[in-house]
Amino acid sequence: MPKVTTNNLNETKVLAKEIVNKLGLAAKGATILALFGDLGAGKTSFTQGVAEALGIAETISSPTFVIEKIYDLQNQSFHKLIHIDAYRLESGSDLLKLGFMDILADETNLIILEWTENVLEILPPTINKINFKFVDENTREINYEI
Ligand code: ADP
Ligand code: MG
Repeated sequence: MPKVTTNNLNETKVLAKEIVNKLGLAAKGATILALFGDLGAGKTSFTQGVAEALGIAETISSPTFVIEKIYDLQNQSFHKLIHIDAYRLESGSDLLKLGFMDILADETNLIILEWTENVLEILPPTINKINFKFVDENTREINYEI
């Protein structure tokens, strides 16, 4: 599993761009970037890098209270970026209540999920796992399987 140490926010965004450029549409179903790691570990910052790589102009913030935000993409193989923050969810069944199965059925969706730990049991085995670890104020260790 590749392990990268980033020394500032921008390096985390650059890694996000590299990872998003490696993704292609799956034959069946949405593509999921499943982010793991504590508060402040860099999950939303990484998501901002993904959004920039996909040409999203608006600022991405953590959808902690709304749970889910959907961004339409222009001139991309994925048609939508769906940013989900499972921080306030207790289990995967909470995600199912939000219509997750419909989102999952569409291969043109790219789903980026924060707090994967909370909903892991309902996710398909094909998720792309990305682990964030806080090392010190500006340093993060990021492990991923893409
Ligand atoms: P999370 O979504 O995991 O709670 P955020 O991305 O919202 O985390 O917050 C990460 C914070 O850490 C931001 O304030 C960011 O500027 C800061 N930071 C410092 N160094 C890094 C780094 N190497 N990678 C990502 N974020 C960093
Ligand atoms: Mg966050």
